[in-house]
Amino acid sequence: MADLDSSKRRSMLLAALAVLTANQRSAQGAVAETITQPETRDDMSFVAVAFAMQRRALDSGDQGYGAIVVRNGVIVGQAPSRVVVRQDPTAHAEMEAIRDAARRLGSRDLGGCTLYSSSPACPMCEAAAYWSGIERMVYGKAARDGGSPGLCG
Ligand SMILES: [Zn+2]
Repeated sequence: MADLDSSKRRSMLLAALAVLTANQRSAQGAVAETITQPETRDDMSFVAVAFAMQRRALDSGDQGYGAIVVRNGVIVGQAPSRVVVRQDPTAHAEMEAIRDAARRLGSRDLGGCTLYSSSPACPMCEAAAYWSGIERMVYGKAARDGGSPGLCG
C-alpha cells in the first residue's frame, strides 16, 4: 500500500466502501442479500446482470423481468419481478430495484444512478425513476439508451 499514491488509495477505499454500504444496508435492519458486482463495469455487463434478475424472476414463477440500479459503477440495488409471488401489481422489477437501492443507500435520492432493465420501463416505473432522481435508463440485451426518465412515459 505504501507504493500507492494517496488519491488512488482514496478512490479504492471509496469504491470498497460503496460496495460495503450497498451490501449491508436494508430496511428495518434486515440483512440484505449480498450483491455480486460484475468484473467489468460497462453497460453490457450491467444489462447482463439485469437479465440474471430476469432469469431469477422466471425461476421463481414470476413474470420475466429484471432490473438493477447502478451508481458510480457499483450495483446498489437489484430485483426480479415480484408481481406474481407477492401478488403486488406494482412490484415490477424496476420498482423493486429502485426500492432495494433506496433501502441500501438509506436515501430516497437516487441522483447519479442508472437503471438497467431487461425491457423498456413501463410508465409507472419510468415515473418512479423520475421521482427517485435516476438520471439514465438502459434496457434490453443490446443495452439501448432509454434516456432520462420523465413523467407519463
Ligand atoms: Zn414497470
